[in-house]
Amino acid sequence: MSFLAKFSLLRFKGETVSNSNINVAKFGGTSVADYDAMVRCAEIVLSNPNTRLVAVSASSGVTNHLVSLANDTLSEAERQAHIDAVVAIQHNITEKLTLDADITDGFLATLEAFKAHALTSEFDARATDELLSFGERLSSYLFTQVLRSLGATSLRFDVRDVLATNSHFGKAEPNVERTSELAESALCPLLADNIIVTQGFIGANSQGETTTLGRGGSDYSAALLAEAIDAKAVYIWTDVVGIFSTDPRLCVKAAPIAKLSFDEAAEMATFGAKVLHPATILPASRSGISVFVGSSRAPEQGGTWIEKEKSEQAGIRAVTQRKNQILLTVKSPEMLLASGFLARVFTILAKYNISVDLVTTSEISVALTLDNAPNASRPELDQACLDELSEFCHVTVENNLTLVALIGSEIQLRHGELNLMGVLSDFNIRLICHGASKHNLCFLVEQTESDNVVQAIHSRLLEAC
Ligand code: ASP
Ligand code: MG
Repeated sequence: MSFLAKFSLLRFKGETVSNSNINVAKFGGTSVADYDAMVRCAEIVLSNPNTRLVAVSASSGVTNHLVSLANDTLSEAERQAHIDAVVAIQHNITEKLTLDADITDGFLATLEAFKAHALTSEFDARATDELLSFGERLSSYLFTQVLRSLGATSLRFDVRDVLATNSHFGKAEPNVERTSELAESALCPLLADNIIVTQGFIGANSQGETTTLGRGGSDYSAALLAEAIDAKAVYIWTDVVGIFSTDPRLCVKAAPIAKLSFDEAAEMATFGAKVLHPATILPASRSGISVFVGSSRAPEQGGTWIEKEKSEQAGIRAVTQRKNQILLTVKSPEMLLASGFLARVFTILAKYNISVDLVTTSEISVALTLDNAPNASRPELDQACLDELSEFCHVTVENNLTLVALIGSEIQLRHGELNLMGVLSDFNIRLICHGASKHNLCFLVEQTESDNVVQAIHSRLLEAC
């Protein structure tokens, strides 16, 4: 029997709350950075009786310390300093909070397990994920207690009991079906009487070993959990009041976007808007779950709603940039009038697991862009791959480029009064892609110029609307 059928009505303080109205709330690292921040988040949770499941990140800074600890070459003193820093962040919160017996037991045991594990002599991928998991494991105890201190009936839940993944440590892929099954039996029954607090970012493989979904993965976790429990909406609470039309540090007139479609939001997250983990939109759009992005410091200011419906208006909604892009140009005069050139190039790229973003082609050449950002899934371009391409092509690699993406719906080169081509012609554009997606128009510029390009586009195309 489905979860919906089994628990079609949930009780909340004497009222009935329809199951399909359940919300999941996710609080990022800055939102749970300290005691006061946690109290603000707890108030947000309690202000909406439909919020029954909460996923938290590690308190701000903790995951960075854990990443540093996973480095085998640290001196003993350096290692101890990172351990102390993690412990200090926890103590800052616990000194303002009286922990119930059940929370004390779990919290202290987890803290001890962290200290012991941090002294591991060699961190392979498996041991690293175990280490990285401690941030969320600790913050979830404390957030549960903060909710209780405001009068809520709240329980901490270990997400590894439901969030099933493969064994790709460091960037594990979820098993969506298994996660739903586990959530249905182990998590859903608890939601009727408790606000459940669980961890973002982490999961477990089929052997029960801890995995992580990749840096910033808590947003993704929240959407996966929302999908698994058939929630109506997932609220991503962060430190900005929504998704902006561009990076507000770059353009003072950047403004939060009230509404985005799933497609637009996915493009924005992929092409550099840092607010959401790019994978978050997948489960949400697959299952029709609305996503809200807002600031836990200023919930009254609203935020961005990402929903299934197409945006009402055609046009450009945002401009993003992604620096550190590589342009790879592969040219083969031999291939003139021959077939199979692209297939040959892409077979080699696939063999080296290289993910391509933009592509333009001519009869005997192909230009493509690769993400070389420090957090890219596949940062370096192997020499072996270049050598293999060089066997039948002339290969050029250009670095220090920025991919600028205009995002919206039905983007056209001329839209009403706006002449996109006219604006773009002022820049030295290295490569341009338009037409493959209705939701973006992307191009490459020199990295040194890209902030100016983004500012100019924002002021001439977005502020003009
Ligand atoms: N704590 C993890 C990180 O800092 C996951 C997250 O916050 O989303 O990457
Ligand atoms: Mg984040």
